[in-house]
Amino acid sequence: MEVDVLKRIPVREQDPKVRAANFEEVCLGYNKEEAEAEATRCLQCKNPQCVKGCPVNIDIPGFIKEVAAGNVEAAYHVIGKYSALPAVCGRVCPQESQCEAKCIRGIKGDAVSIGKLERYVADTAREMGIKPEKAEKLNGKRVAVIGSGPAGLTCAGDLARLGYEVTIFEALHKAGGVLSYGIPEFRLPKERVVDAEIENVKSLGVKIETNVVIGKSTTIDELLNEEGFDAVFIGSGAGLPRFMGIPGENANGVFSANEYLTRSNLMKAFDDDYDTPIIAGKKVAVVGGGNVAMDAARTALRLGAEVHIVYRRSEEELPARVEEVHHAKEEGIIFDLLTNPTQIFTDDAGNVTGMECIRMELGEPDGSGRRRPVEIKGSEFTIEVDTVIMSLGTSPNPLISSTTEGLEVNRRKCIVAEESDGHTTKAKVYAGGDAVTGAATVILAMGAGKAAAKGIDEFLSK
Ligand SMILES: Cc1cc2nc3c(=O)[nH]c(=O)nc-3n(C[C@H](O)[C@H](O)[C@H](O)COP(=O)(O)OP(=O)(O)OC[C@H]3O[C@@H](n4cnc5c(N)ncnc54)[C@H](O)[C@@H]3O)c2cc1C
Ligand code: SF4
Repeated sequence: MEVDVLKRIPVREQDPKVRAANFEEVCLGYNKEEAEAEATRCLQCKNPQCVKGCPVNIDIPGFIKEVAAGNVEAAYHVIGKYSALPAVCGRVCPQESQCEAKCIRGIKGDAVSIGKLERYVADTAREMGIKPEKAEKLNGKRVAVIGSGPAGLTCAGDLARLGYEVTIFEALHKAGGVLSYGIPEFRLPKERVVDAEIENVKSLGVKIETNVVIGKSTTIDELLNEEGFDAVFIGSGAGLPRFMGIPGENANGVFSANEYLTRSNLMKAFDDDYDTPIIAGKKVAVVGGGNVAMDAARTALRLGAEVHIVYRRSEEELPARVEEVHHAKEEGIIFDLLTNPTQIFTDDAGNVTGMECIRMELGEPDGSGRRRPVEIKGSEFTIEVDTVIMSLGTSPNPLISSTTEGLEVNRRKCIVAEESDGHTTKAKVYAGGDAVTGAATVILAMGAGKAAAKGIDEFLSK
């Protein structure tokens, strides 16, 4: 295959018109020939900047070298030293602002397609039946992990590899956290990718108990004092949705993005064989401009609706990944920018019939550095919609903090924990991921899970 070193090998994708009506994965990934060709573009830098851009410091040139030589198994084990979820990260990590943003190849041409190569390695290793390496023997100590999202799975996997007996307690009926209930099938296939990587973590010896709500079924103090766990890691995420507080927000047909996506992803509302109700909607407004808003909008589109993203700033400030915005536009999502909802209208039965919005303009920069949106007086107008999906961010559920004495939280209800080793204000209790930072990213949650595993190991090895 001919390679122009300045240009990345393009990745195959489903045609936008076809994929807008199905839930199959949008990106098809590299095949062997494409991956090996792309891998030859890596300069094998002596001082690889890409590694510095990766929150878990994967040996990127190390695994790419193996791909170029056709050694997928060796490449998989290089990545496996740093990440338990490579097929997930290869798909959903914001590489363009992390490893690829620092890639030396990117100075003159396109950065090496690190994410797509990681995905190729993980997918091929799975197809070849390659499993992660397991601890030789147990060390007799037990750790409880709360939550089975990327933070919990990573902490559990790292501890299991060190010989700990680890049990994950998960509130939902299915493991995976946002990977299972939030990110849609067309970006992150559940059975083929998420479930397979969870099975890999289980193959290290990790037990997962679903339908256990810590704070209700049992408490952290009971885990430590009565059930014999030596330490606890909290990776309970930030699943509590925020709303705007505008009139009409309680109407039938107003969803939080989390609820809408959970009904579709986890409870398979998109599949006619399932009974889970969802209002498919004829005309849907998604309020917000982040990745979650793009996922909700693209799900509603696939369920057959005309979909508008309603966002109060301009395109430049959209917090979603550029790739997600690009895909959403290609599929036909309409962007109503510099627009903010002021109230939701209903019919006599309480069903949504429309949403009043006001036009905005950008003023001076605010605390976040972005220009503050300011209402244009008298510019109110109504859009006819039958479904509104609020995607305004989430915060941690206070259930665990309110049932655990001595566990400090900050004013945003995030658990206070040391970044370097995850220890909290309560002895033997560690925390990381969205529960500590508020809504962030998969790889940051994994990085926190790793740091806490190291912290717990240091504490229990004393
Ligand atoms: C729709 C959507 C799209 C996203 N897209 C991206 C993306 O493209 N790229 C990216 O990097 N990030 C993305 N994110 C963010 C990313 O998914 C999160 O930052 C990440 O999942 C956080 O991991 P976590 O392990 O801390 O928490 P979570 O993934 O939220 O997992 C927490 C788990 O803890 C469980 N739990 C909570 N309370 C309890 C309790 N009391 N007892 C037992 N279990 C409990 C929950 O049920 C859940 O399974 C997205 C988020 C959403 C919602
Ligand atoms: S910075 Fe880019 S070119 Fe250099 S080692 Fe990393 S991926 Fe390869």
